[in-house]
Amino acid sequence: MKEKIMIRYGELSTKGKNKKDFINTLGRNIKQQLEDYPQVTIQREYDFMFINLNGAPLEEVEMRLGNVFGIQSYSLAYEMPRDYSALMTNATKLVEKELEKNPSIKSFKVATSRSDHDYDYDTNTINRDLGGQLAESFPNLQVKMKQPDLTVRVKVRKQDFLLSFDWIQGIGGLPVGTSQNAVLMLSGGIDSPVAGYLAMKRGIRLTAIHFASPPYTSPQALEKAKALTEKLTYFGGWINFVEIPFTETQEAIKEHVPAAYLMTITRRMMMRIADQLRQQYNGLAIVNGESIGQVASQTLESMYAINAVTSTPIIRPLVTMDKLDIIAIAESINTFDLSIQPFEDCCTVFAPPSPKTKPRLDDIAYYEERLDINGLVDRAVANIKVEKIYPNSKNKVQTEDFADLL
Ligand code: ATP
Ligand code: MG
Repeated sequence: MKEKIMIRYGELSTKGKNKKDFINTLGRNIKQQLEDYPQVTIQREYDFMFINLNGAPLEEVEMRLGNVFGIQSYSLAYEMPRDYSALMTNATKLVEKELEKNPSIKSFKVATSRSDHDYDYDTNTINRDLGGQLAESFPNLQVKMKQPDLTVRVKVRKQDFLLSFDWIQGIGGLPVGTSQNAVLMLSGGIDSPVAGYLAMKRGIRLTAIHFASPPYTSPQALEKAKALTEKLTYFGGWINFVEIPFTETQEAIKEHVPAAYLMTITRRMMMRIADQLRQQYNGLAIVNGESIGQVASQTLESMYAINAVTSTPIIRPLVTMDKLDIIAIAESINTFDLSIQPFEDCCTVFAPPSPKTKPRLDDIAYYEERLDINGLVDRAVANIKVEKIYPNSKNKVQTEDFADLL
């Protein structure tokens, strides 16, 4: 008997080549997620993908699949020879295992389908025989046709029987890599990692870019941003982390721009640099963690003024979300505890007491005249440091390490 996981794809509204890309990328991402189990193989059949466990631990594999975007649902499946009496004993064993895993199962039914219509027994007979056998083996289980706790599905195929259980909900979304590239503006806060996660969920491959202003910002703040990046890698494999030296720009702004416009112009500089890097990394969009009205830089007036430096699409997955909903996602992807570690961000260090919430483009232009915009952008971009961050990275920074440094 071969133990498998049967996978149902997510949205497959696309056809032809796109569908092929979707499936190939999903297969690659699953393979990568399971790379420490080289015995696992993947095979495609019609509209399903099968993962052959070949002895890999089911629970661990299931857990990892929970992080792969593009999996709509999956079910445990077992391939067995077309031997009617073996079907009865195999099914009994498998149901017993299911009951051990989930003692709340109180009812069941058998649902048979045939892709080989020449088989000796028809579906009703198989349902009746196997249902009877299971009812006898598990007297506490009730047979229930409508909404049973467990459905035992049998598919009679030309070469074998395939037995499977109920569909389990997957994470959904599109496989990472099917929607082109973007840069993620990743601070150390709560929002941007969540924004990154949601962008990845729509198939976008990210490069994380982080503005650091040493010595005003600490090495720990930088490590925290890398640790957050690592959390994101669990959902799509390695991510390039780009550290952008931002001190010179921030000092220049501080020197030449009045306090009220400091924030707006700083953000515009970040956006200009982000756009250069976007181009360098073959991205088609910039992703950030802004949400309307959350802080002064996120009023619509501010967004408009900051956005005006580029026509590149800026994707703001959190734009209409409430903070509590954002926090719930941060907790579910395990970034929240890291994000709330108190390290100063480049923006908070230089934050004026009362930033303009309604900046004017003509005033901005006037103050930006005082800056060597292109020079600042070019030097920042020329001096980036890039690190490829992997899941489970050896030198990963743990939450506890931060506590020690406080
Ligand atoms: P976050 O929780 O993501 O830091 P926030 O609510 O604190 O967001 P801001 O600090 O105003 O909001 O930042 C808005 C967005 O700008 C962030 O979500 C992030 O995308 C980007 N950003 C802010 N600081 C940095 C930084 N140091 N490096 C890269 N991007 C940044
Ligand atoms: Mg922040």
